[in-house]
Amino acid sequence: MTFSDLKLSKPLLHALTQKGYSTPTPIQQQAIPKILEGKDLFGCAQTGTGKTAAFALPILQLLAQSPTNNRRNIRALILAPTRELALQIHENIVEYARHLPVRYGVVYGGVSQNAQVQQLKKGIDLLVATPGRLLDLQQQGFLSLQQVEFFVLDEADKMLDMGFIRDIRKVIASLPAQRQSLFFSATTTNEIKNLAATILYKPESIAVTPVSSTTELIKQFLYYVPRENKRGLLEYVLKNGNVTQALVFTRTKRGADKVARTLSAQGWRAESIHGNKSQGARVRALDGFKKKNIDVLVATDIAARGIDVENLSHVINYELPEVAETYVHRIGRTGRAGANGIALSFCTEDETDYLKGIHQLTKIPMEVIARHPFSF
Ligand code: AMP
Repeated sequence: MTFSDLKLSKPLLHALTQKGYSTPTPIQQQAIPKILEGKDLFGCAQTGTGKTAAFALPILQLLAQSPTNNRRNIRALILAPTRELALQIHENIVEYARHLPVRYGVVYGGVSQNAQVQQLKKGIDLLVATPGRLLDLQQQGFLSLQQVEFFVLDEADKMLDMGFIRDIRKVIASLPAQRQSLFFSATTTNEIKNLAATILYKPESIAVTPVSSTTELIKQFLYYVPRENKRGLLEYVLKNGNVTQALVFTRTKRGADKVARTLSAQGWRAESIHGNKSQGARVRALDGFKKKNIDVLVATDIAARGIDVENLSHVINYELPEVAETYVHRIGRTGRAGANGIALSFCTEDETDYLKGIHQLTKIPMEVIARHPFSF
């Protein structure tokens, strides 16, 4: 599936290409069509799943589609619990909206309000805010929420943990009853469900795979390695690591082909699968892998979707995924049905940010293999 399959407009598709996204994440695939249809949404998802784009892209599209707002009232409000998260959401919006005539801004506490007030005076369509500062500015008359058409409550569980419930209720009381609301939380306790019920109207629910349960059974190892040594390291671990069969992930189709070719040249029974291969070739490769006629299958993330191979001993992240959740999906291919799986990850200096995201999501440290012949 591509972003254009999700019926996103050209300016957004262009921005996504520039940002380097090629495939929508699972939550984006589920959420974007529903939001574009005008539905309210209850999304159970953590940070790292791509949830910001899942709500920001369709809202930007809907804002740009409908008549312009001459008076520049706030038409979309995104509420986030912390200043860091508000800034992060805003940064994403700056990039997604770069080819759209939508004006956006961000307000949060802990800094002087002057610049924020100036920004509001110029008029904005979409505002990202933390609750306290939003209410402060509203009470002083610097903003009105009466024209809000889209409301997002992000990380609702964290909002409750931080004691923002009264602020949230005040914000909701200021919003028009007629609006589209999106509610995101990493957990779904009764308290969360009750809060959601006061905000949402006939919501659609979506959830992306919880990450912890399977991951805990899988032994995770990390190799820091310079880019040019990755191929050498791959052969080294295949030879020395008791690998019966390995699923190797690359980020690109070309990368998958190159790795498979090198391994074949060294005598491994290796194949690649990715989006440029015919359906027939993909089925054959996968079949060979399941029947254990292939030792190493090199795959991109989309091609590997749905692959379920019994007793797969190793998943190797030859390149780390950009989206942390993808890591969890990748390594979940081993360690099925309680079997002990092993996941190896190769990390260059350029990939340390991806690694950070993965650790934030899984909360399970990988064991670093410091001594290997291909290290820095
Ligand atoms: P989030 O869960 O919204 O915090 O997103 C996690 C990270 O994934 C961010 O660094 C995003 O820029 C990135 N991201 C979101 N969607 C995609 C996508 N479809 N392809 C690649 N990266 C993405």
